[in-house]
Amino acid sequence: MTLHIQTPLIESRPLSLAAGRTLWLKLEALQPSGSFKLRGVGHACEVHHARGARHFVSSSGGNAGLAVAYAGRKLGVPVTVVVPETTSTRAIELLKLEDAQVVVKGSSWQEANQHAQGLLGAGDAFVHPFDDPLLWTGHASMIDEVAQAGLKPDAVVLSVGGGGLLSGVVEGLKRNGWHDVPVLAVETDGAASLHAAIAAGHPVELPAITSVATSLGAKRVADQALACAQNHPLHSERITDHAALQACERFLHDHRILVEPACGAALALAYAPERLAQYNNVLMIVCGGATATLEQIRDWLAA
Ligand SMILES: *Cc1c(COP(=O)(O)O)cnc(C)c1O
Repeated sequence: MTLHIQTPLIESRPLSLAAGRTLWLKLEALQPSGSFKLRGVGHACEVHHARGARHFVSSSGGNAGLAVAYAGRKLGVPVTVVVPETTSTRAIELLKLEDAQVVVKGSSWQEANQHAQGLLGAGDAFVHPFDDPLLWTGHASMIDEVAQAGLKPDAVVLSVGGGGLLSGVVEGLKRNGWHDVPVLAVETDGAASLHAAIAAGHPVELPAITSVATSLGAKRVADQALACAQNHPLHSERITDHAALQACERFLHDHRILVEPACGAALALAYAPERLAQYNNVLMIVCGGATATLEQIRDWLAA
């Protein structure tokens, strides 16, 4: 038994018609914690648990923290999540639903993370949101499931924050012998840290995150994410916040699933089909996100 579930892989009629080609959806939004993060985080937590960890610590007020909280509850390991004051009441509420102890500390993620690091003692395991090989190995299982279903896509579309999802998907493509399947790596303007790293040839730190897609808001990508761009076929794509938000609304209408703008960024490519022109069979990773509300998405769209 793993902590994550095997998710449905469906052919989307509405998105295929919109894109003028066949679009397949890997529905990671249906993971019990609400996003793909549970694959990698669940794997990391199981490994730490097997090594004797008695307490999990996270500094993510988003989907990574939620995945740690879920994993800890399932494994019977207490979880502390340190989040900055900017964290939404909704996110804190979701963490508490999973029985995590939530500590609100600092005005930025950097400060919350520093406090979390200071809490670590013997028997504690810190679970990083994206930069850890254990996470990538866990995320890779989503590609194993696609291969087991007998589908080899012409391209994979996914969104990129710190690049953990990207690193895991590329690991999954490689371990299934799919070295020739390109990845379309989507970021929103204002959170395009992979795009900046590719342009510079090394990871760079963005001065600020200005996108509403907060789950993509890593100022600097993991080294491994840039390595993926350099040793696997990859196209870096950028999308406006508005296009990501519109994709959330349209996807809710088309598939009755509400996702965060971070996921809308990848979905936006289905609704902007010129970006997929070279491919016939496209796999979209519907990464999900539990912190979205329809009211918030509509407010952002109206702003
Ligand atoms: C974490 C997250 C991402 C980005 O994943 P990275 O591994 O940081 O690149 C995208 N979408 C959602 C919903 C997420 O929670």
